[in-house]
Amino acid sequence: METTPSPWQVAVEQFNTAASQLGIEDYIQHRLAECERILIVTFPVRMADDKVRIFTGFRSQHNTARGPAKGGIRYHPNVSLDEVKALSMWMTWKCAVVGIPFGGGKGGVICDPTEMTSVEVERMTRRFATSLQGFIGPESDIPAPDVNTNAQTMAWIMDTLSMHEGHTLLPLVTGKPVALGGSLGRADATGRGVSFVTAQAAKHLGIPLAGIPTIVQGFGNVGSTSAFLLHDLGCKIVAVSDVYGGIYNSAGFDPRQVMEHVRKTKSVVNFPNTQPVTNAELLELPCDLLVPAALESQLTGQNAPRVKAKMIVEGANGPTTPEADRILNDKGVFLVPDILANAGGVTVSYFEWVQDLQSFFWTEEEINARLKRIMDESFEAVWGIAQEQHVDMRTAAYLLAIGRVAEAERVRGIYP
Ligand code: GLU
Repeated sequence: METTPSPWQVAVEQFNTAASQLGIEDYIQHRLAECERILIVTFPVRMADDKVRIFTGFRSQHNTARGPAKGGIRYHPNVSLDEVKALSMWMTWKCAVVGIPFGGGKGGVICDPTEMTSVEVERMTRRFATSLQGFIGPESDIPAPDVNTNAQTMAWIMDTLSMHEGHTLLPLVTGKPVALGGSLGRADATGRGVSFVTAQAAKHLGIPLAGIPTIVQGFGNVGSTSAFLLHDLGCKIVAVSDVYGGIYNSAGFDPRQVMEHVRKTKSVVNFPNTQPVTNAELLELPCDLLVPAALESQLTGQNAPRVKAKMIVEGANGPTTPEADRILNDKGVFLVPDILANAGGVTVSYFEWVQDLQSFFWTEEEINARLKRIMDESFEAVWGIAQEQHVDMRTAAYLLAIGRVAEAERVRGIYP
C-alpha cells in the first residue's frame, strides 16, 4: 500500500499517465512535467509584540504557453514548495479544461493566520506582495484568493503594488472586493461551478439529486457555498466539517443555519441535533454524493475502500491520491475531477480580469449565465472524451487539458 505521496508526486503521476496515453512529443512532455519559473522569498514582518518574524513564501508559474500564469495564494502552516508547484500545475490544466486564456500559477506563505492579528496578516501580505513585485503582473501572473486568503487580502496586494507603480492596477489580482474592481459573483463562483457540474453529472448518470445524502468536507468559501447551492438543488446535506471537526445527522440539515452557527461560534462543531464526527470519519459515512472541499490527499489508498459515496465532486485541489483514484474507479464511483469541478472560481476570475482591463462591468446574471455555459460545455467535452476513449473523468479532463497546452507549445515553437 502506498505511503501518502506528496502533492507534487500526485500531480506529476496524474500528468504522466495521461500524457503517455496522448502520445505527445517527448520534449513537450518533459517540459510540462516541470514548472517554468519559481520564486522563493523570505521576508521580515514586525509582529504585534514588536518582535520581528521571518516568513517564507513561494510563487510558482507552471506554464504560460496559453496566457499569463493564474492562480491563488494560500496562507497555511503546511504550505511548501512541493505543494505550491503541484497547485500551479493543476491550475494549468484547470484553465485549459475550461478554455480560458491563462496558464497555471500558485503561491503561498508558510504561516498560521488563525494565530495572527489582522494587522499582522496585513503587514505580512503587503511585504509578501512587495517581494513578488516584478514576478507577478496583469500580463504575466495574476494571483487570487485560496485557502485562508480572501477579497481583503487581494485588496492589500493590489493596493501595495499600485502604490509602488504610482497608479491603480485593477487587473493585477482577481477575487477583489466589488468596490475595488472585483466581479459580482466571484465569491460564490467556485461553489456555483461545483453545483453546475454536480447537476450535469447527475443528469448524465440518471441520478435524481432530490433527497440524495450528501457530505461536504470543508466549510470555507468553497465548501460552504457548495453546500448551500447543493441544498438548493434538493440534495440532503447530512454532514459537513471544518478544521475543528465535523457534524452528522442522517436526516439532513440546512447548511445556511450551520453558517449562522459558525458566525457565532467560529466552527460547525456543536451545531444542534447533530452528532460529532472527525474529518477522517466524515469521509466514510453513508452518502451518495461526497464533495471534498478542504485540502489535498484526503482520499487515499487507506480510506478509499471504505468510502460509500457513488459520486465524488472535487471542490478542493488534489483531494484524491492516484491509488485512491484506482480503488474508487474499480468500485464504480463516478468522480468529477478538481480541474473541472472547481474551475468555476478561476473562470469568474477571468471575467473579472476582462472587466478590469476594459473598465466595463457586467451584471451578476450575465456572469452566472456565462459561468454556467462554460461549466456545462466543459463537462460535456470531458464526458464525451470519457465515453469515446473508455477512460475515467480525470483521465478525460487531463487528455483535453494536456492536448490544448501541448498544441499551444507546439505552435509557439522553440525560441530562438
Ligand atoms: N484558488 C482558486 C483555485 O484553486 C482560484 C484561482 C483563481 O481564481 O485564479 O482555482
